[in-house]
Amino acid sequence: MNSQELIVRLISNLGDHLGDDLVVTSPVDGAQLTSLAFDSPASIEVKIHQSVQAFRVWRDVPAPKRGELIRQFGNKLREHKEELSTLVSLECGKILEEGRGEVQEMIDICDFAVGISRQLYGLTIASERKNHVMHENWLPLGPVGIISAFNFPVAVWAWNAALAIVCGDSVIWKPSEKTPLTALACQSLFEQTCKEFGDAPAHLSQVIIGAREQGEQMVEDPRIPLISATGSTRMGQAVGQKVAARFGKSLLELGGNNAMIIAPSADLAIAIPSILFGSVGTAGQRCTTTRRVFVHASIFDQVYNSLKTAYISLGENKVGSPLEASTLVGPLIDEASFSGMQNALARVKPEAVEIIGGDRVDRPGYYVKPALVRLSKQSETIFTETFAPITYVMPYDDLSKVIEDHNAVPQGLSSAIMTTDVREAEFFKRYSDCGIANVNIGTSGAEIGGAFGGEKETGGGRESGSDSWKAYMRRQTSTTYFGTEKPALAQGIKFDI
Ligand code: NAD
Repeated sequence: MNSQELIVRLISNLGDHLGDDLVVTSPVDGAQLTSLAFDSPASIEVKIHQSVQAFRVWRDVPAPKRGELIRQFGNKLREHKEELSTLVSLECGKILEEGRGEVQEMIDICDFAVGISRQLYGLTIASERKNHVMHENWLPLGPVGIISAFNFPVAVWAWNAALAIVCGDSVIWKPSEKTPLTALACQSLFEQTCKEFGDAPAHLSQVIIGAREQGEQMVEDPRIPLISATGSTRMGQAVGQKVAARFGKSLLELGGNNAMIIAPSADLAIAIPSILFGSVGTAGQRCTTTRRVFVHASIFDQVYNSLKTAYISLGENKVGSPLEASTLVGPLIDEASFSGMQNALARVKPEAVEIIGGDRVDRPGYYVKPALVRLSKQSETIFTETFAPITYVMPYDDLSKVIEDHNAVPQGLSSAIMTTDVREAEFFKRYSDCGIANVNIGTSGAEIGGAFGGEKETGGGRESGSDSWKAYMRRQTSTTYFGTEKPALAQGIKFDI
């Protein structure tokens, strides 16, 4: 099946979206895939109205039945996994194996959400007053606005949508303008599922095609109580402030600047592959990509030389089309991303002891050899996230001091230590300031069962597993008096009339 056949097969109503506003190209070879129309302000207005109507119906459907819709959607994704994974690779450039992993994450979160649909538990709280009972209830919230980034074009939506829908909410999705086709494909699969399910209101899930402006209209609308936004820190700062100004809730999943510490006792047979997958996987375009590596001085040369050999080999042999099975490093998303990488390398050059790779590979699209930068110490030059495969490697002597360097960046998403010393591992977990702290595995590749997200400029949001579902519901405390005498007031207050 060629790319056009794949797109038409996955997006049954593609014709309704064609237009001149957005040329969609594939990073694989720069070829145009199609051209779409943006949603107008009027059509966004209609979609928000429809989402409110859908919410009013859906919130009254029993939660386990809502879960049944998501169970069926998970199965629909299983049926179309290979096609959707291929479209993910084609549109965002990640290698097919990682495209499959991303669709698997969607399936996993559907399974998780089905279970959650029978566990939207509140509390029964002991009342200080006789014959009173206190409950904490979790109730559906309303339409949930989802804004997503290009690099996880489908999984992030599914993390949000699967949970929001079992929680009784409707969803409106503004995907990245760089990956609108995968969004339309998901929407199409979801609509097919709703049709087969039979009992879901129209417009339970909708997609808005557009860029920043179209996202802003959604962000500013008070009918959307929660905006879940994934993307750069710059975007999160704008979105967070606007949502706060109207007293809405935001769930922010923003940039990372993740580091790994390689301690003297590290098992290097585990550490080296973890650094490589974390650093160059998805061509360095993951929020959890390993960007900084602190290596104990006693093993620095050994680790650096192994990495150097691997980076040279990766650059020579493993950069290529993400659709070919032998490729490990696909393209950057676009020219701006390539320029961002070159600028970052130019900025760090005066401080670098050595730079390996980083140059462009001669083929259509923006392919680069992953860059390995040896530094003698960390500086503010590398405090900004560059969304490309650049790994900064630095020596350290003392664990408590290196944790300060580790935490010195403004972001706080993912972190890892490679050690076989339990004291070091526990020390690291206690003092890493990130939302994710791993031991003997890399910074990227989280499972859906844990709450995902980070602190500081990463935005503080948590999505996916654990109790993240609570973000998609409103909490209500309710006290009931079932006695027959005059009810007592809290804190023993007397108010006799
Ligand atoms: P981006 O910020 O350029 O765009 C993300 C989304 O926000 C797009 O849909 C875009 O149209 C929209 N947008 C931008 N400005 C907006 C505004 N003012 N109001 C409303 N919407 C707006 O990010 P990107 O280049 O697509 O993705 C890369 C970034 O995303 C990196 O910083 C990466 O670390 C981050 N990211 C974070 C996570 C996470 O879970 N923490 C996951 C994936 C990506």
